[in-house]
Amino acid sequence: MLTKFFSTILIFLLFLSACQSPAQPVDKQSAEKVQEIPAEGNDAPDNEKENTDWQAYRPNELGEVMILMYHEIGSKEGTWSRQVDNFRADLERLYQENYRPVNLNDYISGNINLPAGTTPFVLTFDDGTSGHLRFIEQDDSQYILDPDCAVAIILEMSKKYPDFTPAGTFFIYYPVPFRQSKWIAEKLALLQKWGFEIGNHAYNHENLAKLSSSEVVEALAKNVRATQDYLPGYQVKSLALPYGARAKEEAILRSGKWEETSYQHNAILLVGANPAPSPFAQNFDPYRLPRVRADGTELPRWLDYFQKYPEKRYISDGDNDFITVPRTLEEKINKNKINGKKLRLY
Ligand SMILES: [Zn+2]
Repeated sequence: MLTKFFSTILIFLLFLSACQSPAQPVDKQSAEKVQEIPAEGNDAPDNEKENTDWQAYRPNELGEVMILMYHEIGSKEGTWSRQVDNFRADLERLYQENYRPVNLNDYISGNINLPAGTTPFVLTFDDGTSGHLRFIEQDDSQYILDPDCAVAIILEMSKKYPDFTPAGTFFIYYPVPFRQSKWIAEKLALLQKWGFEIGNHAYNHENLAKLSSSEVVEALAKNVRATQDYLPGYQVKSLALPYGARAKEEAILRSGKWEETSYQHNAILLVGANPAPSPFAQNFDPYRLPRVRADGTELPRWLDYFQKYPEKRYISDGDNDFITVPRTLEEKINKNKINGKKLRLY
């Protein structure tokens, strides 16, 4: 049964890698004049790219990105809980409105490699609740992935839509992430294998504002150590603050060492309450990243907002070598973050 389970996963992964869809074709009318600003160390501009029709999808890689914050996924609907079918519907609506998932670390580093005209969004899941990743025990003491847990639903989406690449960060705490004492090692290994990320949510969901500095360092390092006990060498790169509470001392949220364990966070996530800036924007602060609460009120509200104001939304140019931005936003670009890419204004 276990072998069968893993071979199913293998087939599924092969299927995924075979189905990467090419960038969407664009028609060739009314090409606007495009200015390319070579950054240091870049090659000559690629002439083929100049024929792209910017009017077709109005790329804006300085637009905003939603980092969605989910807690419970299960039978109930509420502020901190999303009903399973509503979670499915969220992903479906996001997909139909041209949003595609990217991992948090790729968003932070600006490694957003999506088809032209699509918008990145980031999935985050706090607290390691059972609805995030659940196994169902079979008669022969083996297990299957519960089709109604968040991970299975994301994998189901990517099977249905090959350009919906599985992504998401699970901010877990210990000692029992996902609320099943069995299979913790298997679950963490599968998350990594399937392309998800594991983040820090303190060892036992401590309120970091109420701890001394040495206790904060211990709570954060112990989380990392527990993850690395299951996944040796795994680099935990992001922190979601339990209760949204910051430690008094900022530096220890970013890095620290306790006993033999060090941690280094490239991103710190807040609890609320709006979309985050583009990683190429001057106001992008990876240590204070706002999130959109993905419940029945806030997520639809922001999706409606971006329908009404599409110019606010990050829209990919489909080319990882370029950062394409409307000329009116030029002064808001953080040119230090462009590294290695060419800036293209239109
Ligand atoms: Zn939490």
